[in-house]
Amino acid sequence: MILRAKNITSGYEGVQILWGVDLDIPRGQTVVLLGPNGAGKTTLLRTLVGLLPAWSGHIEFDDNDITLLPTEKRVRSGLAFMSELGVFPDLSVLDNLRMGGYFLSRSGTADRISKMYALFPDLARLRRSLGGSLSGGQRKMLGVAKALMSQPRLLVMDEPSAGLSPKYVKEVIDILKVAHGEGLSLLIAEQNVLFLELADQGYVLEGGRMLAHGSADELKSSDVVRRAYFGMVEEKRA
Ligand code: ATP
Repeated sequence: MILRAKNITSGYEGVQILWGVDLDIPRGQTVVLLGPNGAGKTTLLRTLVGLLPAWSGHIEFDDNDITLLPTEKRVRSGLAFMSELGVFPDLSVLDNLRMGGYFLSRSGTADRISKMYALFPDLARLRRSLGGSLSGGQRKMLGVAKALMSQPRLLVMDEPSAGLSPKYVKEVIDILKVAHGEGLSLLIAEQNVLFLELADQGYVLEGGRMLAHGSADELKSSDVVRRAYFGMVEEKRA
């Protein structure tokens, strides 16, 4: 496993949000964490990357106990976090990428930027544009490339589809397929069930507890999940 979280409890100033959550991410796999608004997905991601302390439980990354490790050290050991605010709007595409590789050597940064331009040719074309001037889809592409600059082994993403139109959601899924093709493990928190298309496995979180876990196909056909989650999504669309 690249990441193993066991019996995690966590929350905010005395308000418990997560109640004994387990989550495993096998090396090289994409895991999607589904759940409705307020289920605790962001809280779980922030706990895994160390932005919130775990109240109890254990987190292992690459077989090392990181439960008490500061975020900075988690990032240096290969765990990258891309939040919704993953891009600096006042910096150019190129400078955003440089920020993503801030702890690489100068030549390491240049090599990595060339690699990102090869993976995402649109970013090469847009390299002088400001982050804030990009379209929603382009901004997510830059966010992913910026996170990949540090050559993470696991990329953790919070709602990459947030605020995007369906057309861009499809683009983001394609961008993540490229990232996954690079051998990266991915953990993606989402409300949009389309992301199961990308996933090897999925988890469903509700009320701070894991409601279900299985392969993407198992989840798509699980009655519990269909009722609790897919049903809700269909109602929302109607
Ligand atoms: P969303 O998709 O809306 O972000 P989520 O599944 O990511 O949902 P969280 O953001 O983790 O859910 O929120 C879980 C619960 O924690 C919610 O009840 C929320 O109100 C509460 N919460 C989130 N941030 C804080 C905070 N800083 N202080 C107190 N409570 C918070």
